[in-house]
Amino acid sequence: MTRLIGIYGASGFGREVMPIARDRYAHDDARFVFIDDDPTQAVDRANGHDILTWETFLEAGPAAGVAVAIADAPVRRMLMDRCVAAGVPICEIRASNVTVGDDVQIGEGAILQPFSSITSNIRIGRGFHANIYSYVAHDCVIGDFVTLAPGVKCNGNVNIHDFAYIGTGAILRQGTGEKPLVIGAGAVVGMGAVVTKDVAPGATVIGNPARLLEKK
Ligand code: UDP
Repeated sequence: MTRLIGIYGASGFGREVMPIARDRYAHDDARFVFIDDDPTQAVDRANGHDILTWETFLEAGPAAGVAVAIADAPVRRMLMDRCVAAGVPICEIRASNVTVGDDVQIGEGAILQPFSSITSNIRIGRGFHANIYSYVAHDCVIGDFVTLAPGVKCNGNVNIHDFAYIGTGAILRQGTGEKPLVIGAGAVVGMGAVVTKDVAPGATVIGNPARLLEKK
C-alpha cells in the first residue's frame, strides 16, 4: 500500500518545501500531500497535490512521515507534538545541495532548504528551519524551534536559544569559545540586522548595528 508523506502547511513555505520533499523521498513510492487545518485551504489542491485536513490525512492510509513546514515556531511545536501523539513519524527535509560538516547533531523535524549550509561542530535542537541560502558556522549551539529566514549569516560560536526567529539577510557576529554571541529565547532579529551584541530573551532588534526595537 502506498504510504503518505505529509507536508503540514499548504501556504507559502509549505509550497516551497514540497518539491524538496518529493526529491528527497522519491524512491519511497510515496503519495505526497499537504495537510492544512484551515478549511478554506483543505478543499482544494496545490501544485498538483491534494490538501487534506489532519483527520483526513490520518484516514487516507499509512503515514510514512510528516514535515511541519510552518514558520510560526509555537505552531510548529504544537503540530510536531500532534504527530508524535498520533504515532506519525516526523521526517527531516534536506535539499540535495545542503552541506553539513563534521560532528553535527540536528534534532528531529529539521527543514534544510536549498543552498543552506551547516558547517562543523554544531548542535541544533528539534524543529529547526534553515531557509534558502542561510548558513550556520562552526561551534554554534541552536535550541529548539529556531527559524532562520532566507540568507541568514550565522557566524561561528553563536548560541541561539529556543524559538528565536532570525529575519532575512540578518548577520550574527562571530562569538568566541569563551564568550559566544547569545540570541535569547524567543528573540526576533529583524531582516537585514547586523547583530554585534547579545540579544535578550524576547527582545526584537533591528538595524545596523542592531538595536532594541522599543514596543509602543
Ligand atoms: N496552519 C495549520 N494548522 C495550524 C496553524 C496553521 O494547518 O494549527 C496552516 C495555515 O492554515 C496556513 C499555514 O499553516 O495555511 C501557515 O501559512 P502562513 O502563510 O501563515 O505561513 P508560512 O507558510 O510562511 O509558514
